[in-house]
Amino acid sequence: MSIERRRRDPNAAKPLGPIPQGFEPIDGELAISGRKASDLVAEAGDTPLFVYSRDMLDARMAALRAAMPESLSIHYAVKANPHPDVIAHMAGLVDGFDLASGGELAILQGVGIDGAHISFAGPGKRPREIRAAIAAGVTLNCESETEAERALEIGRELGIEPKVAVRVNPDFDMRGSGMKMGGGAKQFGLDAQRVPALIRHLIDGGAQWRGLHIYTGSQTLEADAVIETQGHVLDLAARIAREVGQPCPALNLGGGFGIPYFAGNEPLDIAAIGAALGDRFANLPDELAETEMAIELGRYLVGEAGVYLAQIVDRKESHGEIFLITDGGLHHQLAASGNFGAVVRRNYPLAIATRFDAPTAEIANVVGCLCTPLDRLADKAELPRAEVGDLIAVFCAGAYGASASPMHFLGQGPALEMLV
Ligand SMILES: *Cc1c(COP(=O)(O)O)cnc(C)c1O
Repeated sequence: MSIERRRRDPNAAKPLGPIPQGFEPIDGELAISGRKASDLVAEAGDTPLFVYSRDMLDARMAALRAAMPESLSIHYAVKANPHPDVIAHMAGLVDGFDLASGGELAILQGVGIDGAHISFAGPGKRPREIRAAIAAGVTLNCESETEAERALEIGRELGIEPKVAVRVNPDFDMRGSGMKMGGGAKQFGLDAQRVPALIRHLIDGGAQWRGLHIYTGSQTLEADAVIETQGHVLDLAARIAREVGQPCPALNLGGGFGIPYFAGNEPLDIAAIGAALGDRFANLPDELAETEMAIELGRYLVGEAGVYLAQIVDRKESHGEIFLITDGGLHHQLAASGNFGAVVRRNYPLAIATRFDAPTAEIANVVGCLCTPLDRLADKAELPRAEVGDLIAVFCAGAYGASASPMHFLGQGPALEMLV
């Protein structure tokens, strides 16, 4: 059938996103870390349930380490998934944590993460958040002159030399990134040309300068775009350090590594990125020769390791279409519903977890239980025939799911979460 025909055919199936590798059926059911979905739900006691797989977190980190230069530190951007069990597991895998609020700092402290391994970015840090960070020995990624003054003042009050890096708003952004966070007028960081003066002011004011943070965007699947951006970031960092007149102690190169959510998406070529970064590291200018280099990744580390399980509570037909109505929805899966920054709604990877290896048999819409037409988990998906009581699985649910969705909408409350 031609693309033209498909567009006009209102009943045509819409493709689902690619299911991440590593999920095999056991007894016909989706298994996560070697355990059947229905057993996990029985153990948790209810649905909806987020399941995060230790095996998949480990495998992802191992592959990333193998691809990246050995000297590169890998940080976890906590906002992707701040569940304490996930943080505690990641603590054994990554070199540091990047957080973006005092609330996230409290979670990390609850898990026992040392402030020496934490940096804190975010455009609107309140004085009490800055105080808690300095007291804990966290590196502040300072985003403005006002924030720098506060940090110096709070450091003097506490009698602590604050550790401060400066977040730079660069004059470029990452080509092909889903969410741009640099280039032009932005609320993030300080415009590049004002950075050297602020660093000198911080050093003169008694702060320990901890380098630069340059973050340019999220969710890119193009290795070339990442390579190009990292090159620009290294050039900019060297230029700033030269103007400051001191070598740059540490450089957070940003991240932005994406994962395939939609049909046609290809995984990011991390081998190409690692090789290019290795070449650059072999030829660094003096200002960066001793610099601790880091990248910060959120969804790339945890996104594919998570699965959202919900139960089908009703199966109905309307005007010839089938609706599988689940007890989950956009209140836990805002991104999968297409309402978290998407311009056009496309289907996430989704399956009938309890019929994981069954052949497709019908086209169905999978929806949530909320009283809003926005609450869609899959449109016109080709699926095995499913009945009330079956479990559905939404994949790529390890990042920006539970914590980035409006769980209190319609009085629904949080989903259960477990690490297995
Ligand atoms: C959101 C964010 C990240 C994580 O983004 P991912 O797309 O999950 O990798 C990293 N760094 C900063 C500064 C962020 O704001």
